[in-house]
Amino acid sequence: MEDWDLIVVGSGPAGSIAAAEAAKAGMRTLLLEKRTLPRHKTCGGGVPVALGAIAPDIDPSVIAEKQVRFMRHTWQFGSPVLAPVASEDSKDDSLTLWMVQRSVFDHYLAMRAVRFGAELRDGVTVKSVENAKEGVTVHALTNGGEISHLHSDFVIGADGVNGVIAKSAGLQFKRNIAMAMEVEAPHSYHDGNEILREDAIHLEYGAVPYGYAWIFPKADHLNVGAGIFLPQAQKQMRGETLRETLLKAMREYMSSVGVEMDWNRLRIYAHPLPLWSGKHRLNTLDGRILLAGDAAALVNPLFGDGILHAARSGKIAAECLVSGDGENYTNAINSQFADNFDAARKLAKFFYQWTGLVYKYGISRPSATHTAARLLCGEALFTDVAGKAMRRIRAAMSK
Ligand SMILES: Cc1cc2nc3c(=O)[nH]c(=O)nc-3n(C[C@H](O)[C@H](O)[C@H](O)COP(=O)(O)OP(=O)(O)OC[C@H]3O[C@@H](n4cnc5c(N)ncnc54)[C@H](O)[C@@H]3O)c2cc1C
Repeated sequence: MEDWDLIVVGSGPAGSIAAAEAAKAGMRTLLLEKRTLPRHKTCGGGVPVALGAIAPDIDPSVIAEKQVRFMRHTWQFGSPVLAPVASEDSKDDSLTLWMVQRSVFDHYLAMRAVRFGAELRDGVTVKSVENAKEGVTVHALTNGGEISHLHSDFVIGADGVNGVIAKSAGLQFKRNIAMAMEVEAPHSYHDGNEILREDAIHLEYGAVPYGYAWIFPKADHLNVGAGIFLPQAQKQMRGETLRETLLKAMREYMSSVGVEMDWNRLRIYAHPLPLWSGKHRLNTLDGRILLAGDAAALVNPLFGDGILHAARSGKIAAECLVSGDGENYTNAINSQFADNFDAARKLAKFFYQWTGLVYKYGISRPSATHTAARLLCGEALFTDVAGKAMRRIRAAMSK
């Protein structure tokens, strides 16, 4: 049986960053991915530049199709507010957002892990893991139908929201699932449209109950999407109703910015998002199996972003294993995320319940965009911002 120091399951940002970090530190690392790379990933592809602090060698010119420095907000397609993420004369790019295509970005990160010494095998689906005193046995199946049994000292489950590692390792917990959809619409920025900017993300709040819709600029297309981020509300809108609600919002949003598209020709993707739902055990007691990224439900409950957190948790997971501290991984994650995401969850409940009023008294203030960008990249913490923001908006509402 093949023997590895570490097997990482899933080559999204969590898995590839973990594999790179572990391989760099000298662990014999195998990265397994069930799809054939490059592969589509349902996502908006907005990535805070802060990712560069986790993986400083990343070359934005390869992965970032656009660099965003503005946000354009609307409420029910009206009351537009365009504001910079940093003050306009600032030379500081730390709040910029990279607009990536996940097929390119994820492939780049997987190849980066290979450059650091990890072995990548795509087209291999992990079916289950068995944890024993002498290590972990990973049972996998190739696309060609070949079964393999691999042995490893450690396993990182970075296999996303529907991954098998959590279940197989006894690390399952009840998650708060949100739902989002996206479509890639071909677009040229030279068609005279005066609303859409290639240096701005466009965010619409009133079109989706308990959520928002977005238009993100990419090189030759727009990523158009919508999500419902209050799981309780989403439960009332199962199946077709949910799909129709999101699709309607996306269609109306595009019309409102003056772009008519043939929706029948576009491929629409939907995917669940595991929002942070509080502290849970993310490693087996012996510290051999760890969960990272969406598999650990590390999606920000307010914005619904998960890439930076996936990457950060992947790095923490690898660091814990490299230093022989896998048993302490859950604590390491909680000290990095728990208070901040708990505060974000409180703000999300408030925000998605009173969105119109929050728009009027919060989002439409120019400083709100700057704060949102600081929260997105981790320069500001929800623990510092959420309570104050809710108090201020409540006070304005009661006047
Ligand atoms: C519509 C939508 C829009 C979003 N937009 C944004 C955004 O703009 N910015 C942002 O930061 N976040 C966004 N997110 C969230 C973001 O996509 C996720 O949080 C992020 O991809 C999590 O990364 P990950 O590495 O944990 O998991 P994933 O990216 O899901 O990667 C998991 C990998 O594991 C593989 N895998 C699964 N099971 C197995 C198995 N059994 N064996 C082997 N491999 C397996 C999968 O094929 C996949 O490649 C969005 C999500 C959705 C649904």
